[in-house]
Amino acid sequence: MSAPGSEMKEMQNSAPQTTLENESRVGVIGGGPAGSLFTYFLLTMAERIGISLEVDIFEPRDFSQPGPLGCNMCGGIVSESMVQLLSTEGINLPPAVVQRGIDSYVLHMDVGSVRIDTPRREKRIAAVYRGGGPRGITKRKYESFDDFLLKITAAKGATVVRDRVEGIERLNGRPLIRTKGGLSREYDLVVGAVGVNSSTVKIFESLGVGYRKPKTAKTFISEFFLGQEIIRAYLGTSMHVFLLNLPRLEFAALIPKGDYVTVVLLGRGIDTKLVESFLNAPEVKKCFPPGWKMPKEYCRCYPAINVLGAHKPYADGMVFIGDSGVSRLYKDGIGGSYRTAKVAAKTAIFHGISADDFQKYYLPACRALSHDNAIGKVVFMVTRVIQSMRFARRGVLRMTNWEQQGTGVRRRMSTVLWDTFTGSAPYRDVFLRTLHPAFLGRLLYETVVGIFPFHRRLWFKEDKVALGGLGKVYRPGEIIVRQGDVGDSMFVIQSGKVEVVSIHEGKEIRLAELGEGDFFGEMALFEKDVRSATVRPLGEVRVLTVDRKMFLRKIHDDPSLAFMIMQRMSKRLRELNAEITRLTSERIDAAE
Ligand SMILES: Cc1cc2nc3c(=O)[nH]c(=O)nc-3n(C[C@H](O)[C@H](O)[C@H](O)COP(=O)(O)OP(=O)(O)OC[C@H]3O[C@@H](n4cnc5c(N)ncnc54)[C@H](O)[C@@H]3O)c2cc1C
Repeated sequence: MSAPGSEMKEMQNSAPQTTLENESRVGVIGGGPAGSLFTYFLLTMAERIGISLEVDIFEPRDFSQPGPLGCNMCGGIVSESMVQLLSTEGINLPPAVVQRGIDSYVLHMDVGSVRIDTPRREKRIAAVYRGGGPRGITKRKYESFDDFLLKITAAKGATVVRDRVEGIERLNGRPLIRTKGGLSREYDLVVGAVGVNSSTVKIFESLGVGYRKPKTAKTFISEFFLGQEIIRAYLGTSMHVFLLNLPRLEFAALIPKGDYVTVVLLGRGIDTKLVESFLNAPEVKKCFPPGWKMPKEYCRCYPAINVLGAHKPYADGMVFIGDSGVSRLYKDGIGGSYRTAKVAAKTAIFHGISADDFQKYYLPACRALSHDNAIGKVVFMVTRVIQSMRFARRGVLRMTNWEQQGTGVRRRMSTVLWDTFTGSAPYRDVFLRTLHPAFLGRLLYETVVGIFPFHRRLWFKEDKVALGGLGKVYRPGEIIVRQGDVGDSMFVIQSGKVEVVSIHEGKEIRLAELGEGDFFGEMALFEKDVRSATVRPLGEVRVLTVDRKMFLRKIHDDPSLAFMIMQRMSKRLRELNAEITRLTSERIDAAE
């Protein structure tokens, strides 16, 4: 990562471009998830169509620094769908970045607690730090998520400029960026990715291009040191969410990470009093060791969260993405950044960079997010009603508990809660599922008949395996994929190696050895047929599953998701052709 030198001051004085060409310049303001992912996709797509772009990404923060200096203030949950999507894009989060793989959510209410496991019972949610860890951290064991993303954009060829943008203006119609350090440079395209916690959004408003910043709400985040043993014993591998009848509190969560637990509160007028009454609630106290008291000094912040997207998040040669544009309501903000970043990059590469292009190809994605957020508001309104009625809370608990204990039971409430908390599905899907007669019937039954005692499912599950790292660990002797079985998922290797073997007429033929970042079983995503080979671990291997249903749903929105898989399949086909040619020529030689 470097800062450009004197050439930064050079002016081009040429007419504005409406498309990106070879050597076009792109200035990305903000190196959070939106800025980094935009740059990553832009450079990847440019490479695919054979053009070379100059991309500067302005980010004054050093994400390796602990405390507020290096942090982008967030709960740090990378959702289940996001982890799978990043993996299919070739971005695998290393164990050093994943401070805890999460495999379940525990819902706590005054009427009881229930654990909801990931559909595949594997660690597919990542708990990460956006910066170098909480203020006062003594031993750095982990890497920052934002730092990791910024590094992969630099590896793609972007220049990271460690400077703060303080002004944007237009010169001959082209956007020009001025920084605190005195640099000024013209660009063909300027991308606003400054989030909602920076005064820079006001600069965008003052440009007179129609952009109006998003509406926000105040939230609370704190980090408490507990030590790994206590975390392991009291919080396990679950994220803990609370539906408590506390005035002003809308949503609260405890997220275990390394040696710390992150507390996230959303609500109205959040202040120290609300924080204290939350931490003193009996449902919360049971997640901490007996006698634990809130320390006097701890890392905390009150960041803003995007609750209503920006107006007109584009102009000629400008686009606003991530939180500065439109985000997802109360969940999966990183997923929202990914989505807006990718659509904006696709528009810029394949269509153009004029306001008309962004209106035609980028705005629909923003609108889709905004419409879904409107449904999300209804979902949260219903949640608030449930939160305020004890019998309704008990009905929800009993129904989830019944589903989680039963085998072969359709998990209607569990998936509704799961998708609401994790952001794995749009709010629209969640809402429609709650209208299903079977859902309403069972909820009514559990609410009315709920006067009888029931067997509570143990909500706590201790983590006996390694902390960081996503996916599932397989050891020698186990089979990951068996030839002849019907498959409904693809696998991405996170660490270790596997061998692929085909069994033909009783004989085993070794087809390939695959390592970190490789995927296998991809045919199951496209066809409903049996597995064509067996895959087994060579030593200990960690493998992430990508579900067909999630993948196909996303591919409808973004067909380019299949590109990497098609590229890999095409490479395998070439290798296969070469092998057939080699074998055929060997036979011909032998015959002669
Ligand atoms: C309490 C809370 C909890 C949350 N929990 C989660 C969660 O668990 N999971 C999840 O997915 N999302 C969560 N979110 C949402 C998530 O944090 C955001 O959606 C996400 O960070 C948006 O990314 P971004 O890149 O748009 O903005 P940001 O992450 O805010 O990044 C903006 C970047 O721009 C830089 N910048 C600002 N001004 C300038 C300037 N003038 N010049 C150069 N650079 C500049 C900043 O330094 C920063 O690095 C949470 C949010 C809050 C408030």
